Amino acid sequence: MQKKYKIMLAIAIVLAFVLVIAGIMIASHNRSDKQTDHSVETSKVKDAEKDDEQGDSEDDEDNAAATTETGDAAEQENELDVSQAVTMKTTTNVNLRKEANADCEIIKVIAKGTELQKYSEENGWAKVKCGEDIGYVSAEFLVDPAQVPVEEPKQTTVTTTKVEAIPGQHRDPNSAVVVIDPGHQRSGDSTKEPNGPGSSVMKARVASGTTGVSTGVAEYILNLDISLKLKTELENRGYTVYMTRSAHDVNISNMERAQYASSVGADIAVRIHANGSTSSSVSGAETLAPSANNVYVGHLAAASQSLSRCIVDAYCAATGFKNRGVIASDTMTGINWSEVPVTILELGFMSNAAEDQAMQDGNMQNNMVQGIANGIDAYFGF
Ligand SMILES: [Zn+2]
Repeated sequence: MQKKYKIMLAIAIVLAFVLVIAGIMIASHNRSDKQTDHSVETSKVKDAEKDDEQGDSEDDEDNAAATTETGDAAEQENELDVSQAVTMKTTTNVNLRKEANADCEIIKVIAKGTELQKYSEENGWAKVKCGEDIGYVSAEFLVDPAQVPVEEPKQTTVTTTKVEAIPGQHRDPNSAVVVIDPGHQRSGDSTKEPNGPGSSVMKARVASGTTGVSTGVAEYILNLDISLKLKTELENRGYTVYMTRSAHDVNISNMERAQYASSVGADIAVRIHANGSTSSSVSGAETLAPSANNVYVGHLAAASQSLSRCIVDAYCAATGFKNRGVIASDTMTGINWSEVPVTILELGFMSNAAEDQAMQDGNMQNNMVQGIANGIDAYFGF
């Protein structure tokens, strides 16, 4: 009986040995598989990085990749609830990925502004269909097309009263830079300059302006008087102020005045003018700003219109002048060359005797200056 036990023990030991060896072999096989997988992942990532670099150009390689994906996409589409799809738009170039994570394969790069169908969203990843491709994109780069563009007003006739302060740029007037451009100069210059960057339309460098019908005061004098008082008031409020001119005997074109504003790092340019009309009964103040359709400064339209609205409202509140509102203008050289939000304030009509006289009154001039400064404060949100 003892011999029988010894044989059974020996068999048990051999079996145990075989099992251990088999276990080691399986484990080692798995490990080598994992290493192979990992090297595949690495090469996929490299491919993805390559795709990223080529993302801007709609090249043939992308199209070829899309074609090979078509079969997968068709299958996946059957699982999607098409009725749940909403149309979204990309806010930048985004990677369309096979899975909802940033480590997986990129199917293709979707260009900024592309409309696509979004089916679901989870953990910041949106499942989308773009053309024939279905995959995942980071949801933060998708917007509802109905909500964009946010920068452009819908009409050229400006009715908004919303104050759009420049976000995050200034916390108080001490960090804001204002350029004041007192319109005209003692003598106009009728030699020509382009009406905007690259424009073939040529306009006089600087016109001579109008004259008070009752007081006989020239517009360029009123413009500088008010501008100098405005400079003092704005500096008292903490602003940094630059003037395109502080004297009458200068020759600075409208284009040069606009370029000056950018050269000193202005946040806004406020151009001071006074109006004239063939009808002596016309009165009131207005501001001019570019429209969203302006080919040179359309991108400045919203901010310029906001600035214009703030100033004309505060100015008319302070002076009691008739508020003629914000006028869209795309033909002003000094606006078209601007690189910062810009407005032209027409203080009032020098062709109207009462308004001409009022604008030479010291108390009224103080009100005018307070009104403009209040408008600038309102624009920045101070
Ligand atoms: Zn003028």
